[in-house]
Amino acid sequence: MSSIGATTPGLVCAHHHLYSVLARGMPAPPRTARTFPEILELVWWRVDRALDLEMVRWGTMLGALEALEAGTTAIVDHHSSPGAVDGSLDVIAQACAEVGVRVLCCYEVTDRNGADGAKAGLAENERFLRSGGRGLVGAHAAFTLSDETLDAVCGLAVDLGVGVHVHVAEDPVDAAAGARWAGRADERWILAHAVHLERALPGTVVHNPRSNLNNAVGYGRPARFDRVALGTDGIGADMLEEFRLAFALARAHDVATSPESVWSWLAAGAELVPEARDDRVTWSYEPMEPWHLAYSTGVRPRRVEVGGETVLDEQGPTRVDAAEIRARAAEQAARLHARLDV
Ligand SMILES: [Zn+2]
Repeated sequence: MSSIGATTPGLVCAHHHLYSVLARGMPAPPRTARTFPEILELVWWRVDRALDLEMVRWGTMLGALEALEAGTTAIVDHHSSPGAVDGSLDVIAQACAEVGVRVLCCYEVTDRNGADGAKAGLAENERFLRSGGRGLVGAHAAFTLSDETLDAVCGLAVDLGVGVHVHVAEDPVDAAAGARWAGRADERWILAHAVHLERALPGTVVHNPRSNLNNAVGYGRPARFDRVALGTDGIGADMLEEFRLAFALARAHDVATSPESVWSWLAAGAELVPEARDDRVTWSYEPMEPWHLAYSTGVRPRRVEVGGETVLDEQGPTRVDAAEIRARAAEQAARLHARLDV
């Protein structure tokens, strides 16, 4: 991404969970989560089980709006709604299209909701991709997949000619992931986190610095991998913010780290969604250079053009009503929070 003046290509969030926007302000879990598996069980798996398609729709609308407001024109989403699987990827793709954000979808296959849950997840990936949807085959993580389901995920991806988007060794609980995916992954795969991945696998490693800090899973030294992109793991889609955090975290481990090296991770997101290179974001700051941006907070888009169309200007989004989206998403968040089981 060469960045001259105040304009850049569209930014890419290479690992997101758009539904996560609805979890903000949720009631405290029944007890304090003290480990990464407990964070999944007490927070995220309670949230995703309670989702219905109306929640998915308005959570996605808000997540896509916030992406545009941050100059992010493409999202690689990883979705889970075990109570509303069928059609969920269409809802996400449609909502992103309405706002004007590009999206690669996948449904998170896992055995944690039983054999029927795994089948339903596989079927949703297959249905969406065969009907012309854009994305990958999704899988949660090796530690929630039986060998049989893992084989089915890989087989479906090969059949459909796409990669797999999966969490890999995010925490020591998934330390066996490298061995289980070895010989199966290819260059199209998206490997989220890779904090405790002990070997190189083909594909793109997605570093999610804020999420990793928030979950206390450790620092994965992403510079050791050949192909690295940046994601948020569901905490918004402000990629300049994520770049600054990735840079600060890298400096904390190696003070010789240059902003250019971390900027190259942000730019690598466009290899996953090449059209983002033709999108144009005009910023409040000049020049949009890594050494400036590593230390400049509050840089905002003034205009965002996607596929030649202005989808955001100084008045806000051009295709949708931002106030309505925020209000409808707040209603759905309240419904979600009221439904959380314990
Ligand atoms: Zn994730």
